[in-house]
Amino acid sequence: MSYAVINHRLCFAGRPVAFRQSPHGGQPLQPRYLVLHYTAGLSVGAAIDWFLDPRAKASAHLVLGQQGEANQMMAFDRTCWHCGPSAWQGLSGLNGHAIGIEMVNAGKLTMGKGGGWRTWSGAAIADREVVVARHRHEASEAGWHAYPAGQVEAVVAIGKALHAAYGFAAVLGHEEIAPRRKIDPGPAFPLAAVAARILERA
Ligand SMILES: [Zn+2]
Repeated sequence: MSYAVINHRLCFAGRPVAFRQSPHGGQPLQPRYLVLHYTAGLSVGAAIDWFLDPRAKASAHLVLGQQGEANQMMAFDRTCWHCGPSAWQGLSGLNGHAIGIEMVNAGKLTMGKGGGWRTWSGAAIADREVVVARHRHEASEAGWHAYPAGQVEAVVAIGKALHAAYGFAAVLGHEEIAPRRKIDPGPAFPLAAVAARILERA
């Protein structure tokens, strides 16, 4: 996939991807980290609408749909509000140091009364789209919404383009920098393998 970063915008095949400016953030940023998240939803449009909503007080540089379609909401040299209270290796407040990608994914699921997996908002998820696994912060297994291969490959390709532009020190999950509050991107996402591929250690 031919992604590149030009003037702090993500481009695909030489053209900037769709851009909607989030009002949340905008301070100067020199990115040192890439932080990955899930939206806890099923719709790229709903995620974008939320990051445009003044009530959200949240944003991400990119919102990535389940087929890997990328939408940018802030230039990469400006901060977004995707980390909240957070710390990594002595650094606190990762919003001041990190690019954030929100992947459209329902996250942790619950088993409905009549059987079958449901999102937190009650939408049904087919068994074939569920990974049963134990989160590193949790004691028991649960159902997690699977990430389609195309979405994972898009994260890798986009992450590589960003790493080429900014030279990340690490690729992190939100659950790693806010371990008491956050469980995204969760055990359905191959975080270690994706980080290694982006940083070209594998
Ligand atoms: Zn998050």
